[in-house]
Amino acid sequence: MISTINMLKDSGSGPGGGDERSPMSMETDTEREATPVVVLPGDGIGPEIVAATLRVVEAAYPHIDWTYFEAGAEVFRKGLASGVPRETIDAIAKTGVVLKGPLETPVGYGEKSANVTLRKLFELYGNLRPVRELPGLRTPYSGRGIDLVILRENVEDLYAGIEHMQTPGVAQCLKLISRKGSEKITRLAFELARAEGRGSVHCATKANIMKLTEGLFKKTFEEVAEEYEEISARHIVIDNCAHRLVMNPESFDVIVTSNMNGDILSDLAAGLVGGLGLVPSANIGERVAMFEAVHGSAPDIAGRGVANPTALMLSAVMMLRHIGAFEAAENIEHALFVTLEEGRCLTADIMRSHSPVTTDRFSDEVIANLGRRSASLRPRTYDALVLRPDLNGADVSIDRHLDGVDIFIEWGAEAETLGHRLTDVARGTPFKLEMISNRGMKVFPANGGQTDMVDHWRCRFVAVNGGGVEDDSILELLRRIGAEYRWMHVEKLQRFDGGAGYSRAQGEG
Ligand code: NAP
Repeated sequence: MISTINMLKDSGSGPGGGDERSPMSMETDTEREATPVVVLPGDGIGPEIVAATLRVVEAAYPHIDWTYFEAGAEVFRKGLASGVPRETIDAIAKTGVVLKGPLETPVGYGEKSANVTLRKLFELYGNLRPVRELPGLRTPYSGRGIDLVILRENVEDLYAGIEHMQTPGVAQCLKLISRKGSEKITRLAFELARAEGRGSVHCATKANIMKLTEGLFKKTFEEVAEEYEEISARHIVIDNCAHRLVMNPESFDVIVTSNMNGDILSDLAAGLVGGLGLVPSANIGERVAMFEAVHGSAPDIAGRGVANPTALMLSAVMMLRHIGAFEAAENIEHALFVTLEEGRCLTADIMRSHSPVTTDRFSDEVIANLGRRSASLRPRTYDALVLRPDLNGADVSIDRHLDGVDIFIEWGAEAETLGHRLTDVARGTPFKLEMISNRGMKVFPANGGQTDMVDHWRCRFVAVNGGGVEDDSILELLRRIGAEYRWMHVEKLQRFDGGAGYSRAQGEG
């Protein structure tokens, strides 16, 4: 199955620009039937900016059947740990389109983020965040023509939310990167570049340090890039990317990156064009698309009617294009640009010269400006963005080999004693203790360094006769260790097609 979503394309920014539109756009907005859309007003400033946005959309395009559902803080308070009730899930599954206010994530008491739950429930794997210079806003970057898209992988990585307290004083978060997930998001990046006539895609990773996780993302990107010869594909180390975004943001077109990197980079990029209150986003999956501002619920200004609804309005513009309401989307975009350009009615976060206005007053001004054209909005046209599920599926490993096992032990003394004792414990099993590391640094055999140890030891046992050990041998080793020490985690050291599927400790040969 091929799904399509109609996204923004700047006709002036590259090859393929011009006047073509996807077939959906051949219908005029007034001919269209009402489209059902689920609205999640959200938390904090959510209800205020959602109301302001819906008034603008209604004024430009009264053909949407909005239905309101709950998610977030109120739902958590009622005791539902996911923050997303079943009725909300069913409604989203049915309509496939969501306009969403920000949802608060409870801090410090176990509940998962309702945002992450929604993204995962509907496999919204692509978080698309266009960042461009807006008119009338003076920033240190004004006039530089920033116009880039950050594409953030949305469901994997550290946001898999698999965390454990491994000892009373040591916490662990699993960073999960799959080949399938990496292929889907990197392919989407190239399809996006193609649809918007953008010439380059940068893949930003920390593969130099996390060679297996971020390395897999980079490797997959490089493989997928071969199918898109017309688009320049480059890898950039994530910290260098952050630096270059600040120094030379106009040099980027599309940046594709893993979940956590993308979360941070997109907030940074929002800062370049005037702040979090201004950047929209789309969460894209094969059956559901969810549109929301990049910013959160801003509890510090909630309930005061001062929040800037621009980001959500621009998200609604993306949503209108997704459902094929191109005229209305363009009209709102122009009205918003005119409002920003004229600068008479702006919210406090962006107002410089007059008294700031309320969220509702800003919304009134955008409605009043519907029908006016902004000179600073370059003409745009749209191509269908193709979501391709035809993955290479190359994650089937052929040849496997077990090199050994890492056993994680909680222990409160120093490395030498532990090392010598574990060497003895392993005698008579098919394993020998190769090394012990503490927070990733090899500490046994001693390395001459001054590592500050904690009570969490990774003890690496390798198979003495070149591997091929059975699970029973691992269980016997564990039984012996468990008789003397408290272990909390075991990880097999596997080799796939000859390549080690595990990292070495810092300082390990
Ligand atoms: P935030 O809500 O984005 O707010 C950070 C700051 O940005 C605010 O204090 C406010 O700054 C400014 N700001 C954000 N949106 C604005 C707007 N529309 N108009 C004007 N100013 C705006 O980030 P946070 O404080 O880290 O997160 C708050 C909650 O939101 C957390 O529970 C977090 O988990 C959640 N969150 C949800 C989403 C989502 O639903 N997708 C995304 C991010 C965070 P001033 O102090 O200058 O007023």
